[in-house]
Amino acid sequence: MKVHTVLGAVLPSDLGRTLTHEHLSMEFNNFYRKPPNQIAHRFQSGFTLENVGYIRQYPYSSKFNIVMNDDHSKHAVYNDVGVFKELGGGTIVENTTIGLNRDINFYKSVSEKTGVHVVAGTGHYIADVQNDTTLDIKTEDLYNLMLTELTEGCIDNPIVKAGFVGEIASAHC
Ligand SMILES: [Zn+2]
Repeated sequence: MKVHTVLGAVLPSDLGRTLTHEHLSMEFNNFYRKPPNQIAHRFQSGFTLENVGYIRQYPYSSKFNIVMNDDHSKHAVYNDVGVFKELGGGTIVENTTIGLNRDINFYKSVSEKTGVHVVAGTGHYIADVQNDTTLDIKTEDLYNLMLTELTEGCIDNPIVKAGFVGEIASAHC
């Protein structure tokens, strides 16, 4: 048995220390929540020493904080995954699925630059982040898509096979 990483198949014994739920890059703007009115002005800029405490308390209320796929974010990811490698890390299981703007080319780049294995997931995230076309897909076709990505290649990057199903999430109202 082998594990499908974004750069090819790897023996499980070669994975090393593994983080099992990461998001190296994703679209998360749907999860923005307005901050309390009394402190709304604290969220109008990026990170500062004066507002970082507020952002930690209300992480989804900072539009700057929930951007997880711009150049600044990618630079930070290269750096952090490099540190993970230096400290003995081996593999990252990347849980960004359809609806969160999965970016397999970026995952490949992270793996190539750092030497850390990255395993891409397949499936769809919650309904709130799906477009109308996706919401009309039949259950059988959702299954078929996951099967194709696991056994043949991803729809957005056919030479890369997904290595697992996830992240599949649910929402409660
Ligand atoms: Zn997640």
